[in-house]
Amino acid sequence: MQTIRDFTIETQLVHAGIDEYEFGSVVPPIYQTSTFRFKDVDHGARLFKGEEDGYIYSRMRNPTVEAMEKAIAVIEGGSHALGCASGMAAVHTVFAALLSAGDHVICSESVYGPTTTLLSGIFGKFGVQTDFVDTSVPENVERAMKPNTKVVYVETPGNPTLVLTDIQKVSEIAHRGGALVVVDNTFMSPLLQRPFELGADVILHSMTKFLNGHADVVAGVVVVKDEARYRQFRKILNQTGGVIDPFNSFLVHRGLKTLELRLQRSSENSLKVARFLEGHSKVAWVAYPGLRSFAQYELAQKQMKGAGAMIACELRGGLEAGKTLMNSVKLFQLAVSLGGVESLIQHPASMTHASMGREQRLQAKITDGLIRVSVGIENADELIADLKAGLELC
Ligand SMILES: *Cc1c(COP(=O)(O)O)cnc(C)c1O
Repeated sequence: MQTIRDFTIETQLVHAGIDEYEFGSVVPPIYQTSTFRFKDVDHGARLFKGEEDGYIYSRMRNPTVEAMEKAIAVIEGGSHALGCASGMAAVHTVFAALLSAGDHVICSESVYGPTTTLLSGIFGKFGVQTDFVDTSVPENVERAMKPNTKVVYVETPGNPTLVLTDIQKVSEIAHRGGALVVVDNTFMSPLLQRPFELGADVILHSMTKFLNGHADVVAGVVVVKDEARYRQFRKILNQTGGVIDPFNSFLVHRGLKTLELRLQRSSENSLKVARFLEGHSKVAWVAYPGLRSFAQYELAQKQMKGAGAMIACELRGGLEAGKTLMNSVKLFQLAVSLGGVESLIQHPASMTHASMGREQRLQAKITDGLIRVSVGIENADELIADLKAGLELC
């Protein structure tokens, strides 16, 4: 029998996790309830013992959340997904489940700012040691491996530098040393990068970004490949409580349906914007994986199915010029976050990556003048005109 997994991702995005509902509703109902009534005392007891399948309490299970989780598991090619209250709740769930005091982690040096502070601050406090290395050179991972390395954590393209890591090569190195590979796939989405096919063990996303895509939800997800790992993670998530709620699940599930269309347009726009920036006399450098000039263009071609919608650049006038640009653009909104239908611009050193501290930032090549742009689905010519007008003032 044909299942949803037999279809292409374009079809899966529309149909995965969708069931038959009461009244013929074509979208999942929102079960906005915290708890579920038992038929009688014995029924409640059977549910708690796991002798019977059913719902107890929404921190543990909720049908609207499960529908979305099912969809994400299918489109990412995993066995199960766990909806989380935020991308950081997803990152936390993975580390809390996989690490104990005395363990060692290798993490890409250019990752989402709070991921570095979660590892070095909170998990450091509990006796987990992390080395932040430039994972774009696989040999660096090889050198950093220790007998107690449990997790190699990779974000590729890395936030905000867009530096790529070869998932396949790093997975081989990590697995040889008995470590698991966790990939933050937020910047690419399951459409543009398939970490499980490249050897990753666990994938996570901030669904706040491309998966929901409309800048109206904060949410995250962890995707795993087998039931045992799912149970391990579910236990931790249920106990620590960072679950997603039914309404946000509904919104993310709704957002998924247009992911392909949104990404297609924002990727096309991104290439146009990146080319414009690259050709502008006031721009010092542009990093966009779709540009021929991108340092890891070959790896991007091999590992990714598209270059995505994130651009990093620096102006010749450095930070001061960057500030002028960010303060003067009209269509690009000065805001953190990314992956939505609207174009955003922000300054990592003073915003998303401020918590890292300057020294660690510079080591990760996050310069003071670096500007990060998330390109939306507006008209490309109008986006370029907006940047052009801003650059004239710089
Ligand atoms: C935003 C982001 C996160 C954190 O997600 P939240 O939903 O903000 O908690 C993690 N990783 C990457 C790459 C992100 O862009």
